[in-house]
Amino acid sequence: MKKMMVMLLICLMSVQLFSGCAQQVTEAWSADGASHWHEAENGEKVGEEAHSLDENGICSVCAGEIVKFDDGSAFVTFYNEKGDFVSWAEYDSNGEQVFVQTSEYEYDEMGNMVASKTYMDGSLMEECTYHFTGDEEDYPTMATGMFYNEDGTKEYWEYDDRGDVASITYYDGDGSVSYVETYETKYDENDNYMGEKISTDGALSYESFYEFDEDGLFYMYKEIYYNEDGTIDNEIVYDAEGNVIE
Ligand SMILES: [Zn+2]
Repeated sequence: MKKMMVMLLICLMSVQLFSGCAQQVTEAWSADGASHWHEAENGEKVGEEAHSLDENGICSVCAGEIVKFDDGSAFVTFYNEKGDFVSWAEYDSNGEQVFVQTSEYEYDEMGNMVASKTYMDGSLMEECTYHFTGDEEDYPTMATGMFYNEDGTKEYWEYDDRGDVASITYYDGDGSVSYVETYETKYDENDNYMGEKISTDGALSYESFYEFDEDGLFYMYKEIYYNEDGTIDNEIVYDAEGNVIE
């Protein structure tokens, strides 16, 4: 018992010594195309050493995926334990970071992704939620997505259980709703996609039509753009090659 106490004391002392003398460093690896390191609180690189890459460009130490180009630039990607990417950065030939895109995820108790946030150079770029729609595919379908544009506007996309877009709400830079598009996706009795109807602020504004030609080729044969009063603004008819014929 006494021996254990002494051991414990030594452990406590060494922890104190460590935190007293050494700087706190991040647990996660930082990396560029050439090397990896831990970052100290003051931004200093601690324990920097060259990547140890396998034939797939994966570093055996930091687990970063390094793609190097002839001009000396590189992409560096890190994944979490589920294989979802958490950061993706480009470095120029001088080792300067060109951009970094990072993602955070939420998973449910089954390990399914339920939400994600993606940042570009630290600015929130998109926030998405996911749901499982019960099909055999073991991958979640996007349920909602908020996309932030550089000019301060944003778009909120909602998807139906099928994964088709149900609506898009467009926001002004001040956060007020600019307009709303609602989508209705058309399928025939055999589940073939037959086109879509788009309404803008509740009024039908666009409709597309698909069909099979005699060779079984599936193509869009007509698009109609509507005016706000419901009259037809423009009707375009296509052949199977996509050429406008009317
Ligand atoms: Zn590495």
